[in-house]
Amino acid sequence: MSQLTRSEWEARAKTLNIEGRAFINGEYVPARSGATFECISPIDGRLLGLVASCGPADADFAVASARSAFESGVWSRQAPARRKAVMVHFSELLQAHAEELALLETLDMGKPISDALSVDLPGTIDSIRWCGEAIDKVYDEVAATPEDQLGLVTREPVGVVATIVPWNFPLMMASWKLGPALATGNSVILKPSERSPLTAIRIAQLALDAGLPAGVLNVLPGYGNTVGKALALHADVDALAFTGSTQVAKQLLVYAGESNMKRVWLEAGGKSPNIVFADAPDLQVAAEAAATAIAFNQGEVCTAGSRLLVQASIKERFVPMVVEAMKGWKPGHPLDPDTNVGALVDDRHLQGVLQYIQEGQRQGAQLLLGGHATGVETGGSYVEPTLFDNVSNSMSIAREEIFGPVLSVIEFDEAEDAVRIANDTPYGLAAAVWTADLSRAHKMARALRAGSVWVNLYDGGDMMAPFGGYKQSGNGRDKSLHAFDKYTEIKATWIQL
Ligand code: NAD
Repeated sequence: MSQLTRSEWEARAKTLNIEGRAFINGEYVPARSGATFECISPIDGRLLGLVASCGPADADFAVASARSAFESGVWSRQAPARRKAVMVHFSELLQAHAEELALLETLDMGKPISDALSVDLPGTIDSIRWCGEAIDKVYDEVAATPEDQLGLVTREPVGVVATIVPWNFPLMMASWKLGPALATGNSVILKPSERSPLTAIRIAQLALDAGLPAGVLNVLPGYGNTVGKALALHADVDALAFTGSTQVAKQLLVYAGESNMKRVWLEAGGKSPNIVFADAPDLQVAAEAAATAIAFNQGEVCTAGSRLLVQASIKERFVPMVVEAMKGWKPGHPLDPDTNVGALVDDRHLQGVLQYIQEGQRQGAQLLLGGHATGVETGGSYVEPTLFDNVSNSMSIAREEIFGPVLSVIEFDEAEDAVRIANDTPYGLAAAVWTADLSRAHKMARALRAGSVWVNLYDGGDMMAPFGGYKQSGNGRDKSLHAFDKYTEIKATWIQL
């Protein structure tokens, strides 16, 4: 990991070349309308640059480029081993530019530089490399036909894939789509969040440099209700892969229904329960994990452990341990390598988080830690990690995704109560259980309606494990070979011999 100091990062930030144009058909271009929007750093409110504000005309251009690249077969019909080589090279170029990309990510969305370097970049690089390396090791199927017939079950790329991603892990969320979509031979249009477009724009050039043919990866920065909507309604987009809020996810299903019934894959919000039983193997470890689960990445994590369910018999002892652990998470300058809590993505989001904190107090939850904006003099958007005790699962702080470092402690008595409370949510992304009882751990894992369940840890898994949600947390899975399902059609070819 880099040993740079804050002032060295700041010096680098001054010399960064920030590209804000769209990337279509292998080159950087302004939006057809010439429109731009300001890209502001949440670290200090500084203008980073102007970014192309793409619209429907740019979507048409990018879709046409993607379609033409797809039809030409230059990527879609390449031997898998060739696609592997390009993607592995792409991952190497990402690695070579890891510090530059981490710095862009931190400047753009406010996360600590140490996290950008140790989490976002390795996660991104791994996704591209893993999917590339996998693609020449997956086989199609031959059906168990009678002797005089042959049944082939083959996978083909779906065609033109649009992917719309959020701002919390801008590159990594994009890479969870780009890895499998590109490996399986599709052409892709990536729409980053208007709140964090810079790294997506930058890596388009690296992909081209790695040998990805022009038109196979296009990047369209801009707003959701303009270029995002245009892509979601586009008649020539075959699949839409989304990560973001449940509200927008639902709208995308409507757009697909109103247009060409494109496949819609959704990774949406969460309100994940982190359940601590009295027999947890080590309460100190559980307390520290509970703090990390809500404070890491400023709580701007879809799987944030935002509901801490604590068994009544240990609550009095355990909650102070969590409070102590959370005190170790302090907002600081994101370019300082020792900072573990950075800035929220922007002031609008900060105000939303503060409103939830007020709402929690109004509804009678007990504020034990934090609760305020901080670092106001910097011009940035910082909030104290916040803990509420005595929360009921019906309060809005327990029901709605705050997407900030705000933890709600909810008490339970027996395992059945924990399951009932944990599942009493519209979401189903993740859940964790802390217990030394093997049988209870398995029973809980079965009973919890969530795409990921962790036992005696929080936020486990890597590229080998599928990731996604039950209920209104989404459909389909990112990561692992299961992710390839989203980007391929299955064809049955039946032959009379
Ligand atoms: P968001 O839904 O506001 O925006 C996500 C993306 O959708 C952005 O690129 C935005 O421009 C675009 N968009 C907005 N309106 C649109 C429209 N009408 N048509 C097309 N596109 C539109 O979400 P966000 O605030 O960027 O991200 C936070 C959300 O993402 C949280 O709910 C979080 O839980 C979720 N998230 C989920 C996962 C997961 O894997 N399940 C991972 C990370 C984040």
